[in-house]
Amino acid sequence: MGINQNGRPVPLPDDASAPFFDGARRGELMLQACAACGAWMWPVKPRCVECWSEEVQWRRASGRASVYSFAVMHGDFPGFASPYVLATVETEEGVRFTTDLAGVSPDQVHIGMSLAMVTEQLTPDVAIPGFRPAPA
Ligand SMILES: [Zn+2]
Repeated sequence: MGINQNGRPVPLPDDASAPFFDGARRGELMLQACAACGAWMWPVKPRCVECWSEEVQWRRASGRASVYSFAVMHGDFPGFASPYVLATVETEEGVRFTTDLAGVSPDQVHIGMSLAMVTEQLTPDVAIPGFRPAPA
């Protein structure tokens, strides 16, 4: 973990997670999926979480998601402008992430809100997938 110029924590990609971070830089949500049973998964796993197959491969997910749950964060959190929305988002493929939501005010967010993946460039070298309200 590093810290960017705004004080925000920055993950350090490794060989196992590089496809996820490389995808984010291209504006693509890359996730692992099982070639044997089709299950999607995150974080990075050496085996399928459903059937234990080792035939795990990287696939491009749709990038569409929705708000599964959320909290409005108040306080002094380095790298985040308070208040902000911290949400668990569920992708169309059924994978859940916990992330801040860009472009959503706390009084607008709701469970089930449609989201689209965007690139969050944290440093010149590291980007992560972020989510904001999907265009209508
Ligand atoms: Zn499987």
